[in-house]
Amino acid sequence: MRCPFCDAEKDSLKVIDSRSCEGGRAIRRRRQCVKCSKRFTTYERVETNLRLTVIKRDGSRVPWDRNKILNGLERACFKRPIKLEELHRIVDEVEEEVHKAHDKEVPTSAIGELVTEKLRRLDQVAYVRFASVYRRFKTLEDLVQEARAVIDARHYDVPGQGRLFNESEHPAEAGDEAGKR
Ligand SMILES: [Zn+2]
Repeated sequence: MRCPFCDAEKDSLKVIDSRSCEGGRAIRRRRQCVKCSKRFTTYERVETNLRLTVIKRDGSRVPWDRNKILNGLERACFKRPIKLEELHRIVDEVEEEVHKAHDKEVPTSAIGELVTEKLRRLDQVAYVRFASVYRRFKTLEDLVQEARAVIDARHYDVPGQGRLFNESEHPAEAGDEAGKR
């Protein structure tokens, strides 16, 4: 491996952070080149043929791809006061749970349900946006009904609710991720 910026050799690359991801099946390493000081990320994971396959609505199969979940979350959270780090945390949790519950294949519906549930606890606007795409509401009335259910839920669903709860449990991490936004 060489530095993708200055082509320095492996000896110049140091690992500054290492964490497990994809439900413990992969390791994400943040590296820094001592020559040019730039940072980049590498993933170490088992070969693709051992990884999880996602069954789409039309029956086709695609390899598990955490970026697709992240992209869906980013769209739902557009202009919402949510840190990218929180979205990564949701993807990590979804990966963890999906990999525990499914050996080889998982339907998109199962992934969608997990993401929807986690978003509901994080941000209600993002939740309704995501659910409106994921559940494909047929009419505006369906969407309004769902939004109303979210509002009604505020009255009794306090524990998992809202950003204050999430922030107190997961203090904002100061890292170079923030600089990417
Ligand atoms: Zn370099």
